[in-house]
Amino acid sequence: MGGRVSLFAALARSWREPGRYDWLIQLVEANGYGRLTRYGVAMACVAIGAWPILLAVSPERVPDTATRIVTVICGVLALLFGCCWLVGWPTRRQSTFIVVVLNTGIAICCIAYTLAGRPVTGTLAFAVTASYVACVHTLPQLVALLTLASAINIVGIVTVGMAGDPASGLADGLLRLASVTVVPMTIRTLVDLLGEAAVVSDIDPLTGLANRRGLTRAVRQLAGTVPADGPSQVCATMIDIDDFKSINDTRGHAAGDRVLVDLADTLRAVSPDDSVIARIGGEEFAIVAFCDAGGAVRVAQDLREALRAEPAGFTASFGVATITLPPQAAVDSIRLTERLLDVADHAMYLAKRAGGDRIEVADARQ
Ligand code: GH3
Ligand code: MG
Ligand code: MG
Repeated sequence: MGGRVSLFAALARSWREPGRYDWLIQLVEANGYGRLTRYGVAMACVAIGAWPILLAVSPERVPDTATRIVTVICGVLALLFGCCWLVGWPTRRQSTFIVVVLNTGIAICCIAYTLAGRPVTGTLAFAVTASYVACVHTLPQLVALLTLASAINIVGIVTVGMAGDPASGLADGLLRLASVTVVPMTIRTLVDLLGEAAVVSDIDPLTGLANRRGLTRAVRQLAGTVPADGPSQVCATMIDIDDFKSINDTRGHAAGDRVLVDLADTLRAVSPDDSVIARIGGEEFAIVAFCDAGGAVRVAQDLREALRAEPAGFTASFGVATITLPPQAAVDSIRLTERLLDVADHAMYLAKRAGGDRIEVADARQ
């Protein structure tokens, strides 16, 4: 306890981290900042897209027609990407795709203007995109982007220097270099520290799902939204990956982490909208929903099918437990969750003992 972590160890851990996309979205959504954050990202895309479009209509700044066309296309793409965040959160994969295309577009515009003798135009756009990547994507992706942005900045400094004004090139270039490297790296450090702190909070930092504590809290909130004449059955489904240790042993811990993140995505896709999904242990997940046993078993069957179709190729054991609430019951969510999860866990254990890759159903009344 209290030991100091070496910088190298912290960077090595951060390097393997699969990004905090889902966790950060959950965090801002759960705290009421979801819409504001999405609109902020959309605004950043609009600013990035407006830059080449506005330069293109400024006659003395456009080098030639080809540059105008290419840079305007990049600008329009950025505007379209901005619309994605106006509508909702893209998935992690969509976000990665957008980041790659957007930064390629920025690089093309910067290089086009550098070749035309205007080297520093727009390189600050990288500071915006790198800050986003620093927050939600992986450290290798961030380092790749910072390398690209730094290289383009250094070419700009050299170009201005060779044009006969080295002091001006250096003054402007160094400020931009600091903006595109120091700011995103500082953000990344803070997000990493925040992620570590989240281990003791409600959200699992790897998958962005609730942790066990978050599950209890979410069930309490969910119970509060059920009307007196609403559904009276609560179901918990416990999911435990079969032989997960061998995935770690044969493909490595990072591949194991990716399997957990992918499973979390599948759980989100398959579970009904108003269910609570949590990662309650290493490779153990739970879904709690106000529905009947039939509904919970159907979700478990869908999940089992979805896992079979996963390219990673693994199976899981499922335990489903149902409890019928007495009419007008004031729900003690902590006891309810614990009781349900215990019974679901026992059912899951029976499924595991019977060879895994199957669903067992129990009734929590006994
Ligand atoms: P069974 O079929 O009986 O469920 O076997 P299993 O291997 O799935 O379960 P076991 O409990 O034997 O091992 C779970 C493994 O999960 C051991 C642990 O190293 C690994 N694990 C726990 N948390 C994480 C994590 O966050 N990431 C990765 N990659 N592995 C983890
Ligand atoms: Mg287990
Ligand atoms: Mg297991």
